[in-house]
Amino acid sequence: MADTIMKAAARGIVTDEIKEIARQERLDPERVRRLIARGRVAVLRNVRRSGRVRLVAVGEQMFSKVNANIGTSGTVVDIEAEREKARIARRYGADTLMDLSMGGPLDEIREKVMREAEPLPVGTVPTYQAWVEGLRRYGGLGIPSDFFIKIVERQLRQGVDYMTIHAALTKRLAEKAVRSSRVIPITSRGGALLAAWMLENGEENPYRQHWDYLLELFAEHDAVISIGDSLRPGSIFDQHDELQVAELVEAARLVRSARGAYVQTIVEGPGHMTLDQIAANVRLEKQLTDGAPYYVLGPLPTDAAMAYDHIALAIGGALALWAGADYLCYVTPAEHLSLPTPEQVKQGVIAARIAAHAADLAKYGARAAARDARVSIARARLDWASMLKNAFDPEEAARIHAQYGIRTRACDMCGQYCACLVLGKHMKGRLEPSEEQLLERLGSGAFLP
Ligand code: SF4
Repeated sequence: MADTIMKAAARGIVTDEIKEIARQERLDPERVRRLIARGRVAVLRNVRRSGRVRLVAVGEQMFSKVNANIGTSGTVVDIEAEREKARIARRYGADTLMDLSMGGPLDEIREKVMREAEPLPVGTVPTYQAWVEGLRRYGGLGIPSDFFIKIVERQLRQGVDYMTIHAALTKRLAEKAVRSSRVIPITSRGGALLAAWMLENGEENPYRQHWDYLLELFAEHDAVISIGDSLRPGSIFDQHDELQVAELVEAARLVRSARGAYVQTIVEGPGHMTLDQIAANVRLEKQLTDGAPYYVLGPLPTDAAMAYDHIALAIGGALALWAGADYLCYVTPAEHLSLPTPEQVKQGVIAARIAAHAADLAKYGARAAARDARVSIARARLDWASMLKNAFDPEEAARIHAQYGIRTRACDMCGQYCACLVLGKHMKGRLEPSEEQLLERLGSGAFLP
């Protein structure tokens, strides 16, 4: 079996992939190698599916990455819509895509989604398929524990690049959760399914029962385990309780064991959480796991933003990333309400992308600011072509710019009274700052104090 990227890095080898990541992230290759070797950076990649390799490095010192979840539900199955969502997510800047389908022919849907998503790495939550097929095959919850692992094997063979494995949820924690005074005992779909299986069968979590074999499988495919957070708060009133923290401690143990097998891991985080708790949450994860990459599913800083949860996510997500989280799972306006449409996927991806970029500007300063420097210069010059080209959604920006027609060199906010036009002749001969000078002004950024 070939070395995993983590093992190669630990042996001191700066592979071609590591060199490519260093180029993308504008970092020294040796520094990237060390971070991968320590498990502080995980590399998601799609090398098994196509000739076009996309390397997505998640973790310390890397640019923030964005994931988009798509997939059918138990009640809405429209494969064409899911293909469209995959195309949209890729087009508007998602770094990775998760197919969370639970309705329809799951292997076929995944195949189609992976094809549309190329070259993005694609992840799954294998518990979903194990549940759907297990119920059908065994006529109830008497699904044998190794069936969950067979689904993992099948999905890895199909070319899935990373998976959420809810192995940090122990049977004891599941029992405690369902008897707890939480508003929402378990909000995670995968976590709830596994808890139901454990409670019904009186058995330990199947992924814990077969953990060593799982590590062998992930090492063989050099795929990444994203340790799911079944007990993340589904309400701000459940944040940072004993259950959430206990599961994070379990996740940290799993990270250590996976590192021993040179399997890359990511840890998943909240959830719903008020702004004042977010930085503490990120620090706790980093401290307990010795800096494992942190993949946050929000956090949503209010429970009441239905129809605008993508905005809530951008607020909480930017703060979490600035505090040191690494990877942001988007949320769409349909969160808590429905399966998203393709248009809502677009809104979710763009909101998360802006949050990630805002955090990177604060964290990394000039290293992340080239786009803003271009926009600022274009704005001062009333250079609309350049400004619109650098927008997160160029078509929508162009549409809004022209919504009353284009009547002056300025825009219709001020029309002929535009500040840049009014002062134009007095500013002639002014030495305009260059992009490089602007970047120098921003410095190297800093993490949330
Ligand atoms: S018209 Fe007003 S809003 Fe528009 S570019 Fe000029 S100053 Fe800015």
